[in-house]
Amino acid sequence: SSILEKSPLKIRLCGPRGFCAGVDRAIQIVVLALKEYGAPVYVRHEIVHNRYVVEGLEAKGAIFVEELDEIPVEHRKQPVVFSAHGVPKSVPEDAEARNLFYLDATCPLVSKVHKQAMRHQRLGRHVVLIGHAGHPEVIGTMGQLPPGTVSLIDTIADAEAYVPEDPDNLGYVTQTTLSVDDTAGVIAKLQERFPNLTAPSADSICYATTNRQEAVKEAAPGCDLFIVVGAPNSSNSKRLVEVALRAGAKRSLLVQRASELNWDEIGRIGTLGLSAGASAPEVIVDEIIAAFKDRFDAEIELAITAEETENFLVNRELRNVPLTVD
Ligand code: SF4
Repeated sequence: SSILEKSPLKIRLCGPRGFCAGVDRAIQIVVLALKEYGAPVYVRHEIVHNRYVVEGLEAKGAIFVEELDEIPVEHRKQPVVFSAHGVPKSVPEDAEARNLFYLDATCPLVSKVHKQAMRHQRLGRHVVLIGHAGHPEVIGTMGQLPPGTVSLIDTIADAEAYVPEDPDNLGYVTQTTLSVDDTAGVIAKLQERFPNLTAPSADSICYATTNRQEAVKEAAPGCDLFIVVGAPNSSNSKRLVEVALRAGAKRSLLVQRASELNWDEIGRIGTLGLSAGASAPEVIVDEIIAAFKDRFDAEIELAITAEETENFLVNRELRNVPLTVD
């Protein structure tokens, strides 16, 4: 065979992958707000953790800020959108105090976790939040309750070391984008130590996180390389990289764009697993597939473990704005 002949590559493409209903809704809210109110539309924090999405919205007239005081006084009549990750209660309060018009793009499944945390508290329980310190969703969930009434637990070691004031009056919730398996371990440890620990009325880890992890588990065994399309600050994407390795992929990489792929490091592989985090657009998955097809004789095999039909309505103010393609 000639040296120009491409070597065969099987690409195991996971489904579900990529955008979840909460991300889709958050992006729609910004796009519809731009249509309805004109540019600029302010967005507090990256609307979803993806540069490609953020830059696309910036090109349409969105301006991203970290805090509300960055919005110039002369633009206070323009809307400000809160990201899908949710915000502490102080943020809408602050927006009202500044007379800002805000549109909350918090995913309904994050809001549900907020409500469950508040419910634990209303019923006199100290809230244990299982999640990653510093992630905006964790900051938002902790910020639903008064300071000092929530304890953050990340790892099994944290669960072992935790000393509550009243071990018989604890209720937990979790971040929506955690590893299903790791979280089960942390909860088991807490339950072993605190048998009266109360679970939330429904799992906090969302359907999209669960489904993407399941599909990766199915596809990963025997993969020479597993690529997850996603950003380094995307919690659910990072978890998919870990799940792929644990399920038997030899290597796993988090990749934002095809241009990041290091072909010397990738080398000769026979089986590639491919998925995308909940904030990663499908065009980048296409771009990665095209890059592999340029270099390999690639054949796609689907690893589908669920069908998703979830669809979340946008804010009332925006429901009548036509979402036309432009
Ligand atoms: Fe909502 Fe889950 Fe998507 Fe987060 S990952 S935006 S909780 S559906």
